[in-house]
Amino acid sequence: MTDLLYSIRMRASANGAHISGSERLVSSERAEGIIRDMCGRAVSRGVMPDDITITVDPMTRESIQYEAALDFVSVQVSCVHEGRSFAVQMLEHIGVAPEAARYAVHIVGSGAAPSGANMRGAVIMDAQNGVRLEQDQERGVRVSRFDWTESAHRNVNRALSSAGFPHFRTQEALALASKVARAPGVLAELCWSDDPDYTAGYVSSARAGYMRIPFMKKPGDAHGGRVFFVDAQNTRLDVLITYLQSAAVLIRKVGSVRNSVEPHWALEHYASGSTHVRA
Ligand code: AMP
Repeated sequence: MTDLLYSIRMRASANGAHISGSERLVSSERAEGIIRDMCGRAVSRGVMPDDITITVDPMTRESIQYEAALDFVSVQVSCVHEGRSFAVQMLEHIGVAPEAARYAVHIVGSGAAPSGANMRGAVIMDAQNGVRLEQDQERGVRVSRFDWTESAHRNVNRALSSAGFPHFRTQEALALASKVARAPGVLAELCWSDDPDYTAGYVSSARAGYMRIPFMKKPGDAHGGRVFFVDAQNTRLDVLITYLQSAAVLIRKVGSVRNSVEPHWALEHYASGSTHVRA
């Protein structure tokens, strides 16, 4: 094994509009297979891209920060209305102003870019007043340079699959959320996928962990996105964005994984001050 890891990023677009993207942080032995998978993914979304860009950056192992994954729970909601309402309540519990939480749900659900399209990256939002802070609202801020270590990847795959969540998107989102939750100034994250066939999303924070919400949109809806809520008064945006885009983070420890908790149970546990919702 060499001392280098490779940050590999893919983005695919058609007529300037984002179609899909992916980022990994892997050893040289795995790089070739990952690049092949990414090309397959770029052409798998039902829209043929006219641009696929793959960027490879070598990184030394000394530059890597190691973190533990957030604990994972799946919250039992039965429809989009319940899912979105739970997301807003959870964000409020974490410290996001209700108007900001509702506004975030609204923009992700209707295309957060000013053109009405999905963004390639995330919205950065002031948690107190809902003001958007990302410089480029069409593109947003894209988190890269994060992944599981190989053994953590095996463990998380096993843990999530046996709890009923075998989809690769869940593993990827949990790694991303685990990096974002440690970002300087980030209070919480809201996400749901732009894949029309994948209706799940989540709310996460360092204290709440990762709360998967199975219904954040209806099947067939191609809207999705991410919002990072920040404590804007006490956050240097340049430091935050450098961490999100450039800090190399490997997740080496898997947290607890728990299926089907009731929304009120998740909210009460969070309010009662337990650091994470433990299994
Ligand atoms: P996905 O879960 O891959 O369907 O992504 C859902 C949405 O989250 C995308 O439409 C983007 O707006 C945003 N997104 C995806 N990947 C990232 C990333 N690495 N960093 C920031 N935002 C992202």
